[in-house]
Amino acid sequence: MILIKNSYVVEKEGFYDILIKDNIIKKIDKKIECNNCYTIEAKNHLVVPAFCNAHTHLAMSLFRGLADDLNLMSWLNDYIFPNEAKYVNKDMVYKCSKLSMLEMIRGGTGCFMDMYFFEEEVARAAHEIGMRGVIGEGIVDFESPSCRNADEAISKTKSLKEEFESDMLKVSFAPHSTYTLSNKSLKKIADAANQSIIVQVHASETKDEVDIVLKDKGKTPIEVLRDVGLLHNNTYLAHCVEINGNDMNLIKQAGSSVVINPQSNMKLGNGIVPFVDMAKHGINILIGTDGSASNNSLDIVQELKAASLANKVLARKADVANAKEMFKIGTNSRTLFGNTGKIEEGYKADLSLISADSLNAVPMYNPYSHILYSLNSKDVDTVIINGKVIMEHNEFKGIDEDKVKYDVRNLAKDLGAIF
Ligand SMILES: [Zn+2]
Repeated sequence: MILIKNSYVVEKEGFYDILIKDNIIKKIDKKIECNNCYTIEAKNHLVVPAFCNAHTHLAMSLFRGLADDLNLMSWLNDYIFPNEAKYVNKDMVYKCSKLSMLEMIRGGTGCFMDMYFFEEEVARAAHEIGMRGVIGEGIVDFESPSCRNADEAISKTKSLKEEFESDMLKVSFAPHSTYTLSNKSLKKIADAANQSIIVQVHASETKDEVDIVLKDKGKTPIEVLRDVGLLHNNTYLAHCVEINGNDMNLIKQAGSSVVINPQSNMKLGNGIVPFVDMAKHGINILIGTDGSASNNSLDIVQELKAASLANKVLARKADVANAKEMFKIGTNSRTLFGNTGKIEEGYKADLSLISADSLNAVPMYNPYSHILYSLNSKDVDTVIINGKVIMEHNEFKGIDEDKVKYDVRNLAKDLGAIF
């Protein structure tokens, strides 16, 4: 059992002790005594649910900073796709995903949803580190680094599900997008997922994408997803920068969720995701960083701040996307994993301690405000996932951080990395 002493529980707005038994928050009270507990003194620390990075491509850390300041199509076609064809393999996905997982944990993130190739290696890395996640083998109509075509990726997803699905790891269908898959393939995926398996898909990321889909299929990407049976309450739509009022109504009616990726969208010059309007429609909003090749980090605190500021600019109003709303979006993992994302008795023990002691934290009146506007991921001190201490006082427990960095640097030498 773990006992966290004297912590400030942000959602309860007060100081409490927290008792964790197995993987569950067993008790939260003003004073808890426990003789045989592993005790963590948390004076001067905030306790928050672990953040959820709900859209990413973990292994793309190999390409971090390789090509920047380019628009999406040139970035993809001239740099990412050729390098993926050359360097993406099982070993690369395992090593680079592991680096990304450590980066996320250091920033207080406890769970993720990943879409890439060789996802069995992402499952292996997550299992070794003790991270919660959703994996999804990227499905496209052409040959990918791991599969010859969409059919092969669909059957691979089914075997991944049989092999890896657990309380910690969910397996999703991951159709890449409506412009890289025919409607026939999309329908096959809808049939296989049968509304009971999580579907993650890129949708309406750029104006170019929407124009291409309108030209080829006569509908918007959201309309196409609706027509093929992929818009339902187990669907997670990544991006949704370019959606119109009708798209928004369709998403709302279907009960689908939107995962916003504001920094990637802004960096690639795609636009600002209007999530405040979506939330007004009652759409469930989550947040992701996208891959660290287009962000270029996996820092949810930074992502939340960018999302909030961008939407204030978009609305020309200061009172939209406030600190408490952003906190909810950053910790929104419940629809993916069940009883996570809250510091409450009976919830899974996925939480972070954030130091209130750094220069940028003094003084503190409102923790929600500080988390969004003043603190950064470096202020995260301790992370517990599924009742297991993964990082304590900035030290990973039982994980060789230097080895993880060494392995990725070794791979990056071939691409001309300086360090
Ligand atoms: Zn993406």
